[in-house]
Amino acid sequence: MRRQLLTLSIALPLSLHALAHEHDEHASLGAHEHGVASLNLAIEGAQVQLELDSPAMNLLGFEHAAHSPDDIAKVKAVQAQLQQADQLFRFPAAADCTLASADLDSSLFATQHDAEHEHEHEHEHEHEDHDHDGAHDHDEEAAHHHADIEASYTFNCAQPDQLTHLELPLFAVYPGLERINLQGITPKGQMGAELTAERATVQFD
Ligand SMILES: [Zn+2]
Repeated sequence: MRRQLLTLSIALPLSLHALAHEHDEHASLGAHEHGVASLNLAIEGAQVQLELDSPAMNLLGFEHAAHSPDDIAKVKAVQAQLQQADQLFRFPAAADCTLASADLDSSLFATQHDAEHEHEHEHEHEHEDHDHDGAHDHDEEAAHHHADIEASYTFNCAQPDQLTHLELPLFAVYPGLERINLQGITPKGQMGAELTAERATVQFD
């Protein structure tokens, strides 16, 4: 088994970029499934990269653009929570990992732009006062009701030899998340795992 993994690690390109590319191909086949998310992991030297790609439903509970104060507050709370990577992903303490960067990406996070857009519409309505515009807005929104959230993290680990496993408290934080399909590249080779709340730890060896 060990020997097989070593062979794979030589044969396959050792970069997260390759995994990400593979993932894109899957996504184009329609990978948006509520309850399911994908996680790409790459351990290269002292650096660990994680890329979480999830339907917004799993993390946020909805996928429409936030307009109500409650929805806007929820989006902000999820954004803030996703920045707290150490509460979502836990490496062994002995590996001494610290979060170096966290990048979030989602059409639902573009609140500034949406707010401006909304403001323009309000003005139009004041001048024209037609119901047609309102109905059209609704149609537009219904057409884009699916949305994803991507979160990318880089960790630097002082003792990468101690990176024996990864635990995902993420499941406890987001009950809407039922399954994570993990693809990883570690010094031991390429790996895959299916994680759930009951099986929220992946071993690297
Ligand atoms: Zn959806």
